[in-house]
Amino acid sequence: MRILIGGWFTLPRLGREDFMLLMKQGVTYDKAMGFKMDAGTDLESAVRTIRSAVGEDIELTVRCFVCGKESCEGCYYSKVCDRRKVSSMCLCADHSPEKGIFDLYVKTLSETVVS
Ligand SMILES: [Zn+2]
Repeated sequence: MRILIGGWFTLPRLGREDFMLLMKQGVTYDKAMGFKMDAGTDLESAVRTIRSAVGEDIELTVRCFVCGKESCEGCYYSKVCDRRKVSSMCLCADHSPEKGIFDLYVKTLSETVVS
């Protein structure tokens, strides 16, 4: 299954132990929305917990910092990138630095930091 870091996702019914473990690993749970992993999540451990709970490989994807779209699709680095370790904010193919949008990234970042 694919999980977007910073986005809500649902899981099949978990055992109490797995659930508690995910909470300890910094996964957020909301009754209506489901589960969410973000900057405060111990991604490496949480992915391991979910993988063993659902018996499926977990593919993490991240959002584009500029437009908010999933940015892993078609990314040149997707094969070598370890999403458990990189920042949860990335840049999509349309907004990659090669296209000179890096300035926009910096601008967005500075505005976010200021506000
Ligand atoms: Zn983008």
